[in-house]
Amino acid sequence: MTLPRVEIDLGKIRSNTRTLVQRLQRRGITTLGVTKAVCGHSGVANAMLSGGVSGLADARISNVERMRKAGITAPITLIRTPMVSQTENVVRHCEVSYNTEIAVIEQLGVEALKLGRVHSVILMVEMGDLRDGVPPDDLAACAIRVMSIPGVALKGIAANFACLGHIAPDQPKMSALSALAKELEGICGPVTQTVSGGGSVCIPWATQAPSRGRVNELRLGEAILLGLDPMTGGQIEGLRTDAFALKAEVIETKIKQQPLEGFEDRCSFRSILAIGCQDVDPASLHFPPNITLMGATSDHMVVESTTIPLKVGSECHIGMGYDALMRAMSAPDVAKVVLDDRPYHDGAVEKATVLS
Ligand SMILES: *Cc1c(COP(=O)(O)O)cnc(C)c1O
Repeated sequence: MTLPRVEIDLGKIRSNTRTLVQRLQRRGITTLGVTKAVCGHSGVANAMLSGGVSGLADARISNVERMRKAGITAPITLIRTPMVSQTENVVRHCEVSYNTEIAVIEQLGVEALKLGRVHSVILMVEMGDLRDGVPPDDLAACAIRVMSIPGVALKGIAANFACLGHIAPDQPKMSALSALAKELEGICGPVTQTVSGGGSVCIPWATQAPSRGRVNELRLGEAILLGLDPMTGGQIEGLRTDAFALKAEVIETKIKQQPLEGFEDRCSFRSILAIGCQDVDPASLHFPPNITLMGATSDHMVVESTTIPLKVGSECHIGMGYDALMRAMSAPDVAKVVLDDRPYHDGAVEKATVLS
């Protein structure tokens, strides 16, 4: 099989999705499956859908178009504010988009009218992450303005936590979001059908808080794909962390002597894997216990093996964190291979086959 490659176990993704969807459903919260880390891979998207997400979400229209081309008809939300230059495709392919700029929303309205549609808008509110978002003090004025724009409908508000900053979404922060929703409805009427709390960082809050308040949606990527809590890096209870694996081929194994004086006289087996920074983020890889990463360049990854030397031509199995996954899934020279030998009955597109 092609090397290097990412092996994707759709059964584990489906199982993680189902576990999270059910856990949040009990709290009155629906789940969107975020596909940006896998570049809108349609097998993964379909696994999320058969695991029960109520829709998909991605940050890039190119990924959304990939999913539409693959025949995915589920609702898709664009979770990065659209480029004005892409508004036509946003209206064409996404039911909903997250927005922070009136100029963009006006253009979405123009394109929606041309296509004879109504495009739903969610206003992103800045709650301390200092990435995207309308300041809370400007939210009501912004909402009133959006309600006057033909071709768009205001559907709700959303917040973002711990993306750029490291502000964890605690109870006061989430209560503040609920209070904003309530305040906005007092001014504008029922315009907060959706109150979207945030990404995987919100799961501890959502499962432990005494009340979810008005928050009724989370957008989950990392938790579904990797089973990890992005704040702590720890495994989320009940989830699989091995849905993805990276395989790279060993192209050199030699004993390399430390060249510098003053170093202890130490021999070790050094191997080179045919993969590099162009394909994957080396800092976000997890090697088996007998293998240590020594460094990487654009096309070479140097590892040291402490037990037996790695055989030239053999495959090295490597675990991936979020940044490694994201880069590997977007790298043209890394094959994406779907492993799915489970029977399933819910009519999704993937089959019991191996695709690349
Ligand atoms: C990436 C992203 C998410 C998903 O984040 P995870 O940590 O992968 O769950 C949610 N919302 C927005 C706006 C995002 O950009």
